[in-house]
Amino acid sequence: MIPNWAEERRSMVATQLARRGISDRRVLRALAEIPREQFVPLDLRIQAYADEPLAIGFGQTISQPYMTALMAEQLCLDGSETVLEVGTGCGYAAAVLAMLAARVVTIELIPALADLARENLRRTGRGGNVLAIAGDGCLGYEDLAPYDAISVAAAAPEIPAALVRQLRDPGSLVMPVGGDGDQELRVVTKLDGHIGSCVATHCRFVPLRGGKERR
Ligand code: SAH
Repeated sequence: MIPNWAEERRSMVATQLARRGISDRRVLRALAEIPREQFVPLDLRIQAYADEPLAIGFGQTISQPYMTALMAEQLCLDGSETVLEVGTGCGYAAAVLAMLAARVVTIELIPALADLARENLRRTGRGGNVLAIAGDGCLGYEDLAPYDAISVAAAAPEIPAALVRQLRDPGSLVMPVGGDGDQELRVVTKLDGHIGSCVATHCRFVPLRGGKERR
């Protein structure tokens, strides 16, 4: 029997997001609309709305729906922004961000995943305002900087300096910071030349790789 995906989405938004405190209506609407089942591998489709990350191949994951929603909410997007995402994976979070902002630039280190994300975005009709690039996101993407918001979907002990540099003033960046075990989801804001930072929650992400020329 084919699941009722719209019903699964509604239930996920109610029980995993709203009940846990996600309140930005645009974020809730985006997660209620993006067909997550079309971004996960076929054999995991039945688990698409499970309350956990799922494997997408190459040792990488699609984040838990709650984490995607929380990260998007922390960026306080109003629809006018250019957003940089580091770690495209299968493209799901890029599709969510694309509904919340004017334009999304997303970078993925593994070229095959960048291709998969482009295909998923195209097939679901969500790629119109997304530029998906294969490359090392530790360096950001200078050509289209500065970014009103930056979302990093992989963890590192420190926030790459290039990303802080490419963040607009005012602007917000969200990223998991820490080692292999416990990490904190850090929200960095740039305002009037000052950098502020707070912790939104504890989390567990795959490691941010690359960065050989991290500056
Ligand atoms: N945004 C995804 C989550 C992807 S998981 C979602 O929609 O759920 C994190 C991704 O970051 C992986 O695909 C991994 O290959 C990628 N990654 C790791 N280091 C990177 C780097 N330096 N630059 C770009 N992508 C990187």
